[in-house]
Amino acid sequence: MSNRILAAVMPSPRQPIEIREFDRPDLPPGAALLRTARSEVCGTDVHLWHGRLSGVPYPIIPGHVSAGTLDAVRGRIVGLDGSQLQEGDRVVFFDVHRTCGRCRACTVHRTPTRCVARRVYGITDPASEGLFGGWSRAIYLEPGVGIARLPDNVSFDDYIGGGCGLLTAVHVLERASLRPGESVLVQGTGAVGLSTIALARLGGASTIVAIGAPATRLDLARTMGADHVLDLNGSTVQERLDAVRALTYGEGADVVVEAAGSARAIEEGLSLARDGGRYVVAGHYTDAGQSHINAHHQINRKHLEVRGCWGSEPGHFLRALALLERYASRVPWRAIGERTYALNRLNEALQDAERMRITKALVDPWAEA
Ligand SMILES: [Zn+2]
Ligand SMILES: [Zn+2]
Repeated sequence: MSNRILAAVMPSPRQPIEIREFDRPDLPPGAALLRTARSEVCGTDVHLWHGRLSGVPYPIIPGHVSAGTLDAVRGRIVGLDGSQLQEGDRVVFFDVHRTCGRCRACTVHRTPTRCVARRVYGITDPASEGLFGGWSRAIYLEPGVGIARLPDNVSFDDYIGGGCGLLTAVHVLERASLRPGESVLVQGTGAVGLSTIALARLGGASTIVAIGAPATRLDLARTMGADHVLDLNGSTVQERLDAVRALTYGEGADVVVEAAGSARAIEEGLSLARDGGRYVVAGHYTDAGQSHINAHHQINRKHLEVRGCWGSEPGHFLRALALLERYASRVPWRAIGERTYALNRLNEALQDAERMRITKALVDPWAEA
């Protein structure tokens, strides 16, 4: 790799993505340089582009989940999976870094995803500090970043097809406390919703229902393991409620997962859970506005448990890898990554993602456009 490294930079919200050259970084002991093979354009990148996340230090190099080959390693680096890492290894890394282990969130409450110091590659790392994003031919892995070998039978496209949505879904299933034989309803058929369906199926769910759009994503939801899909377009809230109750002994689903990111989904979803059921909110990564709910009817009298789900931890990352190693030949995560874009086509990729023309855009920073 040359000493000048091409990367795609998001200068500020609503501005076109620009290609810029960066210096190849000097590596301190414990650091590595990753030659990027794949990154992704996820819903968060669209939110970043719209300026809807707070505390983002633009300009940034987006792309928070990525995979590649170690180009250079300085000193001894042991991966999160316990292996010693070497140049030439195919690896992936956990995008959250600098979690402090000292703040109240880390120590008292044991909720490290709410750590005050944590930073995330591609989201809260500024381009002024270097190659901290995957829309780049190389990524600087600073000392302390959690790296893991990609299992031999998992391709870069498998890993990025699952991507951040799969990590989130691992956390969602944990928050949902899914018990074997329970019914699961998933609101939203984007990357998080699709992986949630797959993991609910693997996790022993009985009936799985998905509500989403467009039709191509509903087909994919079926392939990922949904028994029934309800098209958000062309159906009313009442029709969907009737349909879900008809599939769940007239009660509503044991577990409902919101992976839609819409304030209306919350209003509807609370009523789709059974009395005493669980409702996991996983789609509101940005402020989608106010939801109008009736706490008496929809939460208190229902004896409903409502749980948020923010970010992920290294354990979710490693378990996502274990799931890919075991199930990528059966579960078509790869199909979620619908089209691959070169660095200079990322404005198009963002527009395609924004308009839901594709399920997920992948980034190949070495592709010639
Ligand atoms: Zn993401
Ligand atoms: Zn902390």
